[in-house]
Amino acid sequence: MPESNPSGAHRLRRTRILATLGPASSSLRSVRSLLEAGADAFRVNFSHGTPVEQRRLIRRARVASNSIHRDVAIVADLQGPKLRLGVVENGSVVLAEGHRVRLARSPVPGTADWLPVQIPRFSSSRAGDPVLLGDGGIELRVEEIASNSIVTRVVRGGAVHSHQGIYLPRARLRGNVLGSKDRVDLAIALREKVDFVALSYVASAADVRRTRQVIAEMTREPVGIIAKIERAAALDSIEGIVRESDGIMVARGDLGIEVPLERLALEQKRLVTLGQRAGRQTIVATQMLISMVSSPRPTRAEATDVANAILDGTDAVMLSEESAVGAFPALSVAWMDRIARATEGAIDRERFRIPHSKGGPTPIDEAVADAAVRTAETIGAGAIVVPTHSGRTARLVSRLRPAVPILALSRSQATRRSLALTWGVQTEPSPPRLSLDQLRRLAELSCRRVFSLPPGCPLVMTAGYPVEGRPTNLVTVTAV
Ligand code: PEP
Repeated sequence: MPESNPSGAHRLRRTRILATLGPASSSLRSVRSLLEAGADAFRVNFSHGTPVEQRRLIRRARVASNSIHRDVAIVADLQGPKLRLGVVENGSVVLAEGHRVRLARSPVPGTADWLPVQIPRFSSSRAGDPVLLGDGGIELRVEEIASNSIVTRVVRGGAVHSHQGIYLPRARLRGNVLGSKDRVDLAIALREKVDFVALSYVASAADVRRTRQVIAEMTREPVGIIAKIERAAALDSIEGIVRESDGIMVARGDLGIEVPLERLALEQKRLVTLGQRAGRQTIVATQMLISMVSSPRPTRAEATDVANAILDGTDAVMLSEESAVGAFPALSVAWMDRIARATEGAIDRERFRIPHSKGGPTPIDEAVADAAVRTAETIGAGAIVVPTHSGRTARLVSRLRPAVPILALSRSQATRRSLALTWGVQTEPSPPRLSLDQLRRLAELSCRRVFSLPPGCPLVMTAGYPVEGRPTNLVTVTAV
């Protein structure tokens, strides 16, 4: 059993913990216990539950975090265009290897000879494409495509069940990453002022752009978009997707079906590196501590998996079933906290200091953030303080994974909450339009309180000055 966290000590962990809320963590008491165990952000999964339940979870997360004055991010995870089988006879049929199976749209229950599916979604499939069912154990191969059906052959057989997921790793599913259910859910989430929307089954940068446009039509509040990388097609367009998104989630549940399982670890490393270099929030998700759904201790492999994601450079690690439906939600968070604290001191910081611009001069704000980090580390500063309006400067500093703690001062609560998913950034409120001297004074007082720094300890402050709207252009040294 992990030691309990002394009050406030969670603030010093750099890796962020994103915990999914669900039936096992829906009461105010259990949301509070997740926060006390070290959760920094909550995910509400719109694939499960009713709008009333989802709204209640979001509100409880807000009440619980406000009651302890913590800036906590809330992520609304939209279901997206998941493809599913219709109903099959008696709920389950067995597909035999080598057998021909027709996929067709039909209200009649399917059999071992044909399965009910939505054909338009197959329109970009070609002969030879794989079709995977369930957790990827059953594989069909497309042989012929007709206007209202597709003929496949069973490569790997087994039992298929009504409403099981279908995966088309090679197909380019066009349009509609936001279906009609997603638009309704998005409206609910935006009304509840969530900080991030996680977009499922993204395949292209255009999917993210379109969603940003829809969000802009619904609200003027800043809302981050996290692209869930779970389709093989997304890997082909990954640079554009990363560029258009505020963060990416390595959604290993579905991605582990769409790409060969033996390649999943390499894809995770590639995605985390791409996201980190682009200064986007990265989240590694799914089955991180899955045995803790029913056990009070993680397995050796799970503890190693969480540690490796942290060494890869992820901003956040995520709990799904563990905190949503498991028997030990708070203990799962406590174990992630414990593994993260034990691991993050061994991060290879120099790996994250590579030049970021592709030829040509380094952008001024990146160069200034780099100077702040190097100054702080060489003078042994107690903290890097970042007055920030949008959070951009704090993210630029975080991207370099400094050994020194980062404190972001912002008058915007939305900015402070969004930084709850950014590696190593603590946040404090700040009044608007302070002079440089007032900012220095606030930095000193805040660092004394947040990091318990001794008097005389130097601090590095970096900002776009005057703060509102200016790119990062200033580094200054002050002392507690
Ligand atoms: C995943 O597939 O890994 C994932 C995070 O998505 P969901 O939980 O919505 O299936």
